Amino acid sequence: MAKMTVKDVDLKGKRVLMRADFNCPLDEKTGEITDDKRIRASLDTIKYVLEMDAKLILMSHLGRPKGKRDAKYSLKPVARRLSELLNKPVKMMDDTIGPKVEESVKQMRPGDVILLENTRFYPGEKENSPDFAEQLAKLGDIHVNDAFGTAHRAHASNVGVAKYLLSVAGFLMEKEIRYLSKVVISPTHPYIVILGGVKVSDKIGVIKNLMKKADMILIGGAMMFTFLKAIGKAVGSSLVEEDKLDLARSIIDEANEKKVKLVLPIDCVIAQEMKSKTERRIVDIEEGIPMGWKGFDIGPKTVEIFKDKLQNAKTIVWNGPMGVFEIKPFSEGTHAIAEMLANSDAMTVIGGGDSAAAVERFGLADKMSHVSTGGGASLEFLEGKELPGIASIKDKEM
Ligand code: ADP
Ligand code: MG
Repeated sequence: MAKMTVKDVDLKGKRVLMRADFNCPLDEKTGEITDDKRIRASLDTIKYVLEMDAKLILMSHLGRPKGKRDAKYSLKPVARRLSELLNKPVKMMDDTIGPKVEESVKQMRPGDVILLENTRFYPGEKENSPDFAEQLAKLGDIHVNDAFGTAHRAHASNVGVAKYLLSVAGFLMEKEIRYLSKVVISPTHPYIVILGGVKVSDKIGVIKNLMKKADMILIGGAMMFTFLKAIGKAVGSSLVEEDKLDLARSIIDEANEKKVKLVLPIDCVIAQEMKSKTERRIVDIEEGIPMGWKGFDIGPKTVEIFKDKLQNAKTIVWNGPMGVFEIKPFSEGTHAIAEMLANSDAMTVIGGGDSAAAVERFGLADKMSHVSTGGGASLEFLEGKELPGIASIKDKEM
């Protein structure tokens, strides 16, 4: 179901209460923002709202302040950075709700921007308390939800306020929904899903749901070893979820039944320790991994097989790095797959926090059709779950 967006409403002169995701990493010492990606991701919507001559009241959470005021998690650095990016003043509030904030909102003129203090300074945010939501809702005439990263949580600032105000999607939210629904509901075939990361248990929901539509699933990352062990291979001291071996076998059976091709690596990069200065070897899975050695990346033969399979794909979803991409000697598999996707004509969608970080680290994020900005939210979307922070946005009338 399509959602209403900022384009479907008249914003002129209105007080627009916008939930963005400004949860940026901060430098522990200076308190300054170390990566402003999330602020930049919301600029399109912010600029549009301002062009429409609205008054913009922004809100977000930052970090985990445990429901009370904590200067460490103030949004002040965000106000400064946003002001630089917009090249106009962004008035920082000392509070999130209350008479002083209401007074400042009353003084606003079209084109003005206010940033409320961290919504998580109030326990009502995470509790989704109706009272806190109502206090927030008082500040606006319309609610714009652009916080995809929070969409898997029913909090007051994204879900609660929608009880009191019409809630519409911002451009970032709209783009996330468009790409993720496409791959979950109506992918163009051939459709290949690449899965990796640490644990099978983290990804069961994603595997089961995407298997309904995928033609092929390529498996890498540490979770490959649970699958390989489940079919009797010697995986040495690699990370294995012993209690998920039956599950891995049932996934293999289910894939067979559904005629989904499940492709497991045939070689891998092994070492005795997960660190950069260590002896590294490449072994064939048939040969087996010796005890004392662990697999940290897919091997070169596997990379070639995966590339070959991906060549004809029209839709590719990738969740979970192929190896320990954070450490140079184990980053090659992930890097090679990222390059392949970057140069592919297929629709390429990257989900998951670490997977997004990987393609960014390789400088390839811009070459993908879509890199989701929400780690947990994108996984739940791929699992086929209804996200509360999307359900609360008004459906477009047909
Ligand atoms: P995402 O956040 O994209 O969903 P995950 O959180 O599931 O991805 O997995 C990411 C992590 O998986 C990375 O930190 C990476 O180092 C780790 N990883 C990948 N392959 C291995 C492996 N063979 N052994 C140990 N860790 C691995
Ligand atoms: Mg992760």
